[in-house]
Amino acid sequence: MIQSINSIPAFDIRQQYSTIESEVSAAVLEVLASGRYIGGPVVEGFEQQLAAYTGASHCVACNSGTDALYLALRAFNIGAGDEVITTPFTFIATSEVVSLAGATPVFVDIDATTFNFNLEQVAAAITPKTKAIIPVHLFGQPVDMTALMSLAEEHNLVVIEDCAQSTGASWDGKRVGSIGHVGCFSFYPTKNLGGCGDGGAITTNDSEIAKRMRVIKEHGQKNRYYYEEIGVNSRLDCIQAAILQIKLRYLDTWNNQRGQIAARYQQLLSQVPGIITPQELPGGVGVWNQYTIRVLDNKRDELRTKLQERGVNTMVYYPHPLHLQPVYENLGYKPGQLSVAEQVSQEVTSLPMFPELSEEQQDQVIYSLKDVIS
Ligand SMILES: *Cc1c(COP(=O)(O)O)cnc(C)c1O
Repeated sequence: MIQSINSIPAFDIRQQYSTIESEVSAAVLEVLASGRYIGGPVVEGFEQQLAAYTGASHCVACNSGTDALYLALRAFNIGAGDEVITTPFTFIATSEVVSLAGATPVFVDIDATTFNFNLEQVAAAITPKTKAIIPVHLFGQPVDMTALMSLAEEHNLVVIEDCAQSTGASWDGKRVGSIGHVGCFSFYPTKNLGGCGDGGAITTNDSEIAKRMRVIKEHGQKNRYYYEEIGVNSRLDCIQAAILQIKLRYLDTWNNQRGQIAARYQQLLSQVPGIITPQELPGGVGVWNQYTIRVLDNKRDELRTKLQERGVNTMVYYPHPLHLQPVYENLGYKPGQLSVAEQVSQEVTSLPMFPELSEEQQDQVIYSLKDVIS
């Protein structure tokens, strides 16, 4: 469809690039000239910087957020016969890796105000087969990690934080990725810390687990050309690591800008009838990868169409909860079983959110939304 000149994208990564273009191109050219494209000091430097940033003692870089989650499960020997509790309201990667590792994802319902999984439901889903819990800090908003960690400790369970959408968020003063047993990050371009391609990393305070993940991500190689288990090939390349080193220095500034935009949406939209704005828990500081509202009375799709006619582009994360996806038919979930996740996936839409969104652009979003809804 034809978009007006004032069209506002849901996100815009070119604009951010233009603000750091000279730094990024110099760093990329330096890597190209060095002849070292895989491993070495640039990647190690980034690992150290991300570990320091999150407050975790170790960081292992890898190819993607999906791989990060997979490597974490493998490092804890989670596989056939094991159950892993997670949310059905997330990107497929979160549960896909559980299946890939040979274990069974167990989905529990979510909380409609935070979009994160409901901790009472998590507690109720624990069985003797449960080995791990994967909290997803969805849209940048941290899960209550204090309550989750005490539940996990009580039952001796591993906690693998899915931090793909929440780099920089914190719970009770601690950055996500440093609270659970491991934290898994994605540097997919639209994440808060996004590269110019694929990338991922795992943080942990457990040096044995960090070591084990390095073995698995290098084809299960224990010593050079000596293999004791089946591994994978999962690397962050030097060009991405060099770019991410630069971007990490701006991350807090960008996250603060997102926070200001979210606060303004909150201030100007929270009283609008027919929609529900997202709520933050008191112990958390979120980083607003998305600003996601709920549209009541089955009006979500109509609202999105009308907004688009006014040049305001929105997204839907996620239109179908994972427990009802065809790929998980074998798990036997029935419609109505995780009713909050099912209802919310019909209601949600994410408004334009990126650090460079201007006040005028945001005004246009807010004005259009109010106009459409009345
Ligand atoms: C993006 C994302 C992933 C996967 O990251 P990739 O780098 O794309 O593999 C996992 N979990 C969540 C919640 C995500 O948003």
